[in-house]
Amino acid sequence: MSDCIFCKIVRGEIPSKKVYEDDEILAFNDINPARPVHVLVIPKKHIASLATATLEDAPVLGRMLAKANDIAVVQGSPDGFRIIINTGRVGQQEVPHLHAHIVGGPDPVGPMLKRV
Ligand code: AMP
Ligand code: ZN
Repeated sequence: MSDCIFCKIVRGEIPSKKVYEDDEILAFNDINPARPVHVLVIPKKHIASLATATLEDAPVLGRMLAKANDIAVVQGSPDGFRIIINTGRVGQQEVPHLHAHIVGGPDPVGPMLKRV
């Protein structure tokens, strides 16, 4: 996707603070961190969201989750973390390239959601 911001990060056309990269996935610091550790993990291939992912995407989705703990530990969240994947309008996804937020740090991240 030529005009997708995260595809541009994959191609190096927009700078990012990379914390992990392999053939299939890239992890970089969120530009507006919500917690001391706030990393975004993305598939290098453009997948718009979990709403458009298919079973063919299962290996790369599994890879994103399987690497999350290593990334969190190295970045300063050695005792757990939270993964958030905002999806579509209801999930209030802002960037239409699938991404998992890894949030953590030395302290617990707080309640999962505020009750409405
Ligand atoms: P979401 O609401 O789940 O789509 O989250 C999008 C996230 O992308 C937000 O936390 C933004 O701070 C983050 N973000 C947007 N642009 C960039 C960028 N150029 N580099 C790093 N993070 C970004
Ligand atoms: Zn993209």
